[in-house]
Amino acid sequence: MYLSKLFLPFTKNLPSEAKIKSHQLMLRTGMIKQSAAGIYSWLPLGFKVMKKIENIVREEQNKIGAQEMLMPTIQSADIWKESGRYDDYGQEMLRIKDRQGREMLYGPTNEELITEIFRSSIKSYKSLPQLLYHIQWKFRDEIRPRFGVMRCREFYMKDAYSFDIDDESAKKSYNKMFYAYLKTFERMELKAIPMAAETGPIGGDLSHEFIILADTGESKIYADKSIFEINPSKYKDNDISLEKMRQDFSKVYAVTDEKFNKNEFDNNVKKNNQIITKGIEVGHIFYFSDKYSKPLNCLIDSKEGNKTNIKMGSYGIGVSRLVAAVIEAKFNNNKMKWPKEISPFDVSIIPMINKNNKDSLTKAENIYSELKKQNIDVLLDDTDESMSNKFNKHDLLGVPYQIIIGSKSSDNKFEFREVNGESSVIDLQNIKLKLKK
Ligand code: ATP
Ligand code: MG
Repeated sequence: MYLSKLFLPFTKNLPSEAKIKSHQLMLRTGMIKQSAAGIYSWLPLGFKVMKKIENIVREEQNKIGAQEMLMPTIQSADIWKESGRYDDYGQEMLRIKDRQGREMLYGPTNEELITEIFRSSIKSYKSLPQLLYHIQWKFRDEIRPRFGVMRCREFYMKDAYSFDIDDESAKKSYNKMFYAYLKTFERMELKAIPMAAETGPIGGDLSHEFIILADTGESKIYADKSIFEINPSKYKDNDISLEKMRQDFSKVYAVTDEKFNKNEFDNNVKKNNQIITKGIEVGHIFYFSDKYSKPLNCLIDSKEGNKTNIKMGSYGIGVSRLVAAVIEAKFNNNKMKWPKEISPFDVSIIPMINKNNKDSLTKAENIYSELKKQNIDVLLDDTDESMSNKFNKHDLLGVPYQIIIGSKSSDNKFEFREVNGESSVIDLQNIKLKLKK
């Protein structure tokens, strides 16, 4: 893509409600545009990043055997009345009436709908376990939408649902998701810590929020800092190893606000290991057994020939929130640095263009087409702005590599800048090697 052609409405005057870095930056670089309170359009740059995040989420779900499907955004109120949540959900639910006067709603989550689909399709333990997911827009009429896409009303979420015959098997599904989440966030170069979360009246210990540390986060967290030392890579994708993984995490104190207990914290965590800080919730996994299958009467034939309520869990990832969360985690000194896998472009070419130096644009175009051939997604800055203006702009765009065609480059060697600030003068062959996927 040539920068001059890119739809990139840089905004100078930010609205006063843009208080946190990610919100400011997403507006400044034209990634999103607000269309109503807590409702945003995703412009090409932001959309590109979100789609890359979505793809990582999808790939990691598929790897653990979850199957993708798609449920609608609009649901009938009937199933919510059956589960009892139609009244409980309160004002966060956007309620709609169709022309026949039927009560509908814009789905804030999908436990009821998936249970309804399941109960009419699967009858025997032989078809279990099942893991189903979709990636779909949700609507929650948040009382105070804020921080851009971090807490908005319409947002994009991956939600998965597990179906098992009993607690033991359900725990295995839970562990798989736990693992998939760690892998997903790792690929986004995020350190997301699984924190024990409230399980509600069901009890048990199978609920975790995945939180990335950030001062601007809305979740308060209390943890033993050794939780950061657990390396997810040492576990394998098999039931025994994954059970060990969850237990290793569970042994170390790490909880959110709602589960915090000062005495427990002080008794379990040495003073200088205690971390009290804030974070952003990017995912939540939850085993709730027959909480929905019971009221919705979702029954399955067991091996022994009895009918039993299916045991379910649900697993969410805030795909659109992640775009902002990554910015919060990575923005530094007025510079953005996208993790490689989700950067809107793989590399930027920045030639110095002026009246006396038309040459550099030609060079840049040659490199551009060479890299394109290798499937590398390139942004070429073909504008005639000064180099310092260009650099400022590219610092905000945060593409992890830059090829600079300026004073340091010769006929066939170019300055190549990497994410970590390292810079070298190398030829195209070596640039290709560095950018190889
Ligand atoms: P929060 O405590 O932040 O309101 P939640 O507990 O209501 O989150 P879940 O119902 O578990 O969230 O939804 C799964 C994921 O969806 C969350 O981990 C979060 O990443 C994302 N999410 C939830 N609400 C919003 C929102 N209003 N805007 C953007 N993303 C959201
Ligand atoms: Mg919420």
